[in-house]
Amino acid sequence: MGVADFIESLLSGHPADLYLDGRWTPASGGATFAVEDPATGKVITEVAEGTAADGQAALAAADAAQESWGATTPRERADLLRAGFDLITANADAFARLITAEMGKSLAEARGEVTYGAEFLRWFSEEAVRIDGRYGTLPSGKLQMMVDRRPVGPSLLITPWNFPLAMATRKLGPALAAGCTSIVKPAELTPLTTLAVAKVFEEVGVPAGVINVLTTTDPAATTGPLLSDPRLRKLSFTGSTPVGKALLAQAAEGVLRCSMELGGSAPFIVFEDADLDAAVDGAIAAKTRNIGEACTAANRFLVHRDVHDEFVEKFAARMGALQVGAGDEPGTDLGPLIDDRSRVRVHGLVSDAVERGARVVVGGELPDGPGHFYPATVLAGVDAQSRVVTEEIFGPVAPVQSFADEDEAVALANSTEYGLVGYVYSKDLDRVMRIAPRLQFGMLGVNAGVVSDPAAPFGGVKHSGLGREGGREGIDEYLEYQYVGIAR
Ligand code: NAD
Repeated sequence: MGVADFIESLLSGHPADLYLDGRWTPASGGATFAVEDPATGKVITEVAEGTAADGQAALAAADAAQESWGATTPRERADLLRAGFDLITANADAFARLITAEMGKSLAEARGEVTYGAEFLRWFSEEAVRIDGRYGTLPSGKLQMMVDRRPVGPSLLITPWNFPLAMATRKLGPALAAGCTSIVKPAELTPLTTLAVAKVFEEVGVPAGVINVLTTTDPAATTGPLLSDPRLRKLSFTGSTPVGKALLAQAAEGVLRCSMELGGSAPFIVFEDADLDAAVDGAIAAKTRNIGEACTAANRFLVHRDVHDEFVEKFAARMGALQVGAGDEPGTDLGPLIDDRSRVRVHGLVSDAVERGARVVVGGELPDGPGHFYPATVLAGVDAQSRVVTEEIFGPVAPVQSFADEDEAVALANSTEYGLVGYVYSKDLDRVMRIAPRLQFGMLGVNAGVVSDPAAPFGGVKHSGLGREGGREGIDEYLEYQYVGIAR
């Protein structure tokens, strides 16, 4: 069965197995769990409920494959990654339908995720052949120094539900390029796309055991024990900050290399000299991309008081015009939120802000009917202590606060435990260069509402995480140095 047929079989309700040691196999306990379409609440298909024994089998396979995979040439690994990019790209429409079905985003956005996600494979196919080292003589003259790079080893890759393709390829790309084997644990809400990615790698000839996919609703029991197993060498996690902190604590047991892409609370700062129409375009992108369910989503709109009212009016008009609907309906801008718990939480943030004096400029009402839909919402006059300001929203809700000067804008922007990304709109380059170093974020968008790109280092500071994915930096997370001193 080819990739297109594989995706079609999932969409038509054929149950999905685990992918362990190059074989598609039911869970050892025989159980399955359901994956639902968030637009309808209907079950798409059943997926194998991996167990602790399956976790052990996955690690045994990854461990057994590590030596031979680590010994492949960079060019061989590059060619396989490039073939993976080509195969995903050739099946882009099928992948987009699968993403929309299990995650909810519109088909247009899902298509965008396929382009973005596949690019990590092409990018890291190009990085695999640029792994370098160094050779020299120690200052004492006693030894020749050879510094080489080695794969870290078997890696556990845990991904969230919001970008089911891109979060998998953003980890698998550099892991494969560096010569690491892996166990991927996709989010239980969206495991299907990751299984289809594994199918791609099976098709292009990645050897058995190099990639293993472990689906489960009980990660603590299934992947938890792996964290202290000496065969595992690395944990790369994308998800919420509380889970990331708990996993870091567990990973200490195995002294694992860790990469953590955690939550965010991006400020979106509009100065009085900004091009307001461009700022509104950027605000729409930064707020409503992926239905607001992105760690990079603008979470707090900080607008200079001189342009506040005009910005709010223009922004609310655009937000109010966005079409809410199922991802596969033509014209949909905003698909459903991932589940009802999420919708109740997002609505709770709006209610809390209103109780503290915020004004609902547009949106803010729970729609009737099936699906976990929520309208694009703009809140003005938001109190800084409101939960919609202090917590990660993960929905299409935009709280706006005003500021008086640059210092206040910087102080408000930095008043969060998170430090993933910030957005700044200003035509004054001197101002931008002045405040960039003061803004405590791993990434900044200047007059740009979307900055993520496979060629750029993605990642945050403070409680947003450790390490970088993508860019020239991404492969470093999967490489160790080895120094060899040779007597002269
Ligand atoms: P989550 O933390 O609930 O889950 C993320 C993953 O961790 C899932 O696969 C989940 O099954 C797994 N998990 C949960 N408990 C675990 C445990 N005890 N052991 C092992 N695995 C466990 O997050 P989510 O709700 O899936 O995703 C939303 C969060 O992810 C948001 O906070 C968002 O900001 C963050 N996120 C960050 C980035 C980034 O790059 N910084 C990107 C996307 C999402």
